[in-house]
Amino acid sequence: MSKPMVTAANERQRAAWTGGTLPEVERVRPGLWSIPVPIPINPLRYVLVYAMELPDGVAVIDAGWNTDEAYDALSAGLGVAGYTIGDIKAVLVTHIHPDHYGLAGRLREASGAWIGLHPADARLVRDRYDEPGIQELADRGRELLLRCGVPDLTAQELAGASMMMRNYVSMATPDRLIEDGERLDLPGWNLKAVWTPGHSPGHLCFVEADRRLLFSGDHVLPRITPNVAVHPQSADNPLADYLDSLRDIGKLDVDEVLPAHEYRFLELSERVDYVIGHHEERLAEVEAVLAAADGMTCWDLATRLTWSRPWETIPLFMRRSATNETLAHLVWLEARGRARRVAGEPDMWHSLQS
Ligand SMILES: [Zn+2]
Ligand SMILES: [Zn+2]
Repeated sequence: MSKPMVTAANERQRAAWTGGTLPEVERVRPGLWSIPVPIPINPLRYVLVYAMELPDGVAVIDAGWNTDEAYDALSAGLGVAGYTIGDIKAVLVTHIHPDHYGLAGRLREASGAWIGLHPADARLVRDRYDEPGIQELADRGRELLLRCGVPDLTAQELAGASMMMRNYVSMATPDRLIEDGERLDLPGWNLKAVWTPGHSPGHLCFVEADRRLLFSGDHVLPRITPNVAVHPQSADNPLADYLDSLRDIGKLDVDEVLPAHEYRFLELSERVDYVIGHHEERLAEVEAVLAAADGMTCWDLATRLTWSRPWETIPLFMRRSATNETLAHLVWLEARGRARRVAGEPDMWHSLQS
């Protein structure tokens, strides 16, 4: 399936993305700023924090990783807009991942801002980023990988790979839970939260109806598709959640999409159709590989799928998300009666195609 060309809202921002540089701090609309905040050791390179001017300060959507470099970049970006970190009144977080949530606690400390998160992600905070939850989470991650057929030593290594992430997050309990459909009380803004589970259980997008904008977080991005995976903190069938919430968001009538990574773009519904098609193709590929063998583990299956590079060259920590992502497709097929799991150690997966 060929990549649909979505139109970048700002060609310079797109060129910065493809050229490997940091885009500039930009005034997107009157009172609305886009601030790229660098993220370490990650091919996504930066998260786009959006700052909305209020009568007495600013509200931001997403925060960035908990590093000094990120803090300084956000501080400098707010400076371009005429504000300081101390002026932040609210931190609306699209989801719990460290590149979005990591810096939230530190911003609150410096400014007294409130932090808002959807309840389904809020309830994961403690396990994910605090002792002893984090160790237990790594153990459960390892068990899940063993059930996928990952060799024991590799499973230990893969499960441990996420432990380093906690260094990039300050453990902050949100002050407010933002529910689906909730209107945010931000003077001058007509901002409504839309719950879009899948990439994380409590992922939120925000719609600005007056300005016809969608802040899409990681839910819809212009070039890449977000990781949707079964892991110890995921929903039972995250791919079903993701595709459902993608169909819903695709119906919105907006002029521009403001994602958390890459660059702003137009044509929301075309992009949504493409991403749905991408997953349908992937599901068909999984079915075809299953049909060619008489039962296999999820790990085996993952090694036989097409990835952006040969399996042997994929770094270990990325093989973990690849395995969990493959499992999400298997679970989706199982729920639709298109694949069968024989539970065991490991689970064996069978085709239901005759
Ligand atoms: Zn994410
Ligand atoms: Zn992200």
